[in-house]
Amino acid sequence: LPPLPSDAPVGRVGPTIFSRYAGATRFDQLPISKKTKDALRQSKYIEMTDIQKASLPHALCGRDMLGAAKTGSGKTLAFVIPLVEKLYIERWCPQDGVGSIILSPTREIASQTFDVLKAVGKHHNFSAGLLIGGRRDVEAEKERVNELNILVCTPGRLLQHMDETPNFDCSQLQVLVLDEADRCLDSGFEATLNAIISQLPNRRQTFLFSATQTKSVQHLARLSLKDPEYLSVHEKS
Ligand code: ADP
Ligand code: MG
Repeated sequence: LPPLPSDAPVGRVGPTIFSRYAGATRFDQLPISKKTKDALRQSKYIEMTDIQKASLPHALCGRDMLGAAKTGSGKTLAFVIPLVEKLYIERWCPQDGVGSIILSPTREIASQTFDVLKAVGKHHNFSAGLLIGGRRDVEAEKERVNELNILVCTPGRLLQHMDETPNFDCSQLQVLVLDEADRCLDSGFEATLNAIISQLPNRRQTFLFSATQTKSVQHLARLSLKDPEYLSVHEKS
């Protein structure tokens, strides 16, 4: 194994040291890599929003997360940062294949998330792809999808790859994000999400965000999360 990068957090961040970071208010106080800290600062992300303060110390300890917070509260960084850090701590390289999947309800949200991922991950060398259907050429995607470390997708397109792409492999998946889960379910993706989750390895970290907690969201949460930390943040940050 290659030596740990010199700026990696010391040891794996375990639940026992969660409390050390529970009161952090700025990104540079978190146990994250210098690469990520530099990127956040360069994107002018300095102070955390409420949902970020509440969720990041847990997420960076490896906990699953069920988050409810309204639009504009900063949920994207609440999952993009721990996802990038997890792959970094695991020394994920381009040859390791799919390490993380982010599912978004719409193409537009997926591409916004992809932009945030590019900004946060710009000093890391993970490969990432936006798989959102539309006019994009699925055949060309199939050639490349196994070389991608982080997939930002709409549910339909991901399931299409799972069904049709030869050797599509997410057996090493580390982190799954279900963003705007209520909207995914409202858009008729329930069966698609179930089919996707049933094909993913159980040993992984999962973040589920939803503005509302309907019955079907609770069902999805039971299906996808293990002993999650529940977070509900309502005031606008
Ligand atoms: P949500 O997914 O909860 O609707 P977003 O993650 O899209 O929210 O963030 C909403 C806006 O707030 C974006 O423009 C984002 O760049 C900005 N933002 C998020 N976190 C911070 C922060 N810590 N500091 C400054 N701006 C932030
Ligand atoms: Mg969002």
